[in-house]
Amino acid sequence: MNNKTLTIKANIMNKLFSTTLITLALSACTATDNTNVNASNNSIPNNSHNSPKNIIMVVGDGMGPAYTTAYRYFNDNPETKVIEETIFDRHLVGMASTYPARVSGFVTDSAAAATALSTGVKSYNGAIGVDVDKKPIETVLEWAKKQGKKAGVVVTSQVNHATPASYLAHNENRRNYNAIADSYIDDGIKADVILGGGWQYFIREDRNLVNEFTSAGFHYLDNPKGLSSLPQEKPVLGLFADDGLPWALDDSNKHRLLTMTQAATTQLENNDGYFLLVEASQIDWAGHGNDIAAAMAEMADLAKTMEYLENYVKNNPDTLVVLTADHSTGGFTIAAEGKYEWNPEVLRTMKRSPHNIAKKLAAKDITIKETSKLLNFKVTQAEIRLLQQAKYQASEQLVKFYALDESAQQQQVKPSIETTIYIAVKKLIDKRTNSGWTSNGHTAVDVPVFAFGKNSEMFSGKIDNTEIAKNIFTLLGKK
Ligand code: MG
Ligand code: ZN
Repeated sequence: MNNKTLTIKANIMNKLFSTTLITLALSACTATDNTNVNASNNSIPNNSHNSPKNIIMVVGDGMGPAYTTAYRYFNDNPETKVIEETIFDRHLVGMASTYPARVSGFVTDSAAAATALSTGVKSYNGAIGVDVDKKPIETVLEWAKKQGKKAGVVVTSQVNHATPASYLAHNENRRNYNAIADSYIDDGIKADVILGGGWQYFIREDRNLVNEFTSAGFHYLDNPKGLSSLPQEKPVLGLFADDGLPWALDDSNKHRLLTMTQAATTQLENNDGYFLLVEASQIDWAGHGNDIAAAMAEMADLAKTMEYLENYVKNNPDTLVVLTADHSTGGFTIAAEGKYEWNPEVLRTMKRSPHNIAKKLAAKDITIKETSKLLNFKVTQAEIRLLQQAKYQASEQLVKFYALDESAQQQQVKPSIETTIYIAVKKLIDKRTNSGWTSNGHTAVDVPVFAFGKNSEMFSGKIDNTEIAKNIFTLLGKK
């Protein structure tokens, strides 16, 4: 056993010891107040007797108001006259502003926004749990853990990506992926359940963090099938991909966020409650790619997850669920080109992501039959021609590229047939649906806030993203 492992073990022992002390102190204080079982589980100082036992914070990364609205029309059953109400419609309570610290202007990135949501402090774009002076700030997850609650994160990105990292780590730059992953062990383990992607950061030449987690008592799994048979009471690390998980459209389980969230809530249940962060990470990635098909599939996975949580709160009324976005992405608009229509029909039947379809079309001849099969809707002769042209042009560019000498080649981006077809496929879908995009980055529009369960009224109206963390700290008894 090396020094580092010893330090880690000592840290864990310390943590266990202080948790025991807190538990003892709590049971001592509840001995005089045994009138309310729920309250005894929340025996944190101050006005928190009526605080929720479990707090589930959900982030739809990049999910501006156009996404939740579009999901309503995507989800609409065309057989009925009404437009069906969605889980989002049912729980909308207000809007949140998302601007970062003034040094970064009005448009936030996911790191600054998640830091605001996790700490209540605005910081610069790129900041992970640190303020504008790069000083670490306590997060709601860390505080919840200190209060004797369990904690977890469930994401569809890599688990050390900006949003989860802002709850679990402190780093001056979101791109320090390895350092952030290392800190999940080195700063003391803060979460009892960690689910998402990220093998390449956890299993490295220089360090194997998976082994370190298992030495620290964690159950490790690398296949989501294992989520249905987790060992009770044991902390869990589940990593299911090198980076982020596959797109919902391409995953064998299109509702993988739901599956992970079900497992996490079950695993975390305990007398003292828990804090859980759930992130639908890839709505943002679809937004950056201006990919409406991928975006709606990610929204559907999030919607199913929220429906599960709605039911969970019915059975566990001492739970609070808050959902918001960190910002909007892509400047997505529901209608474009001056036309008053949005046609999500084809999106409802798609079974592969445009990424995946482009990969297949790059490898074979583009025919109506094959393309219709891949898209799972009937493409027109004109649409096929556009795809064929795109492929032809990319091939020609590639031939020209290879004709260049080496130094000239190095000065250009190598043309990619697959990328060119990917762009053409997305354009075809945008035309079919009449979807619009104004950016491949973030936009500064306010984002919707949804809340249900215990104390959900605290999140209503127009609030700032920092108030979400401040409210959660209040509910967790922090002054
Ligand atoms: Mg994120
Ligand atoms: Zn983004």
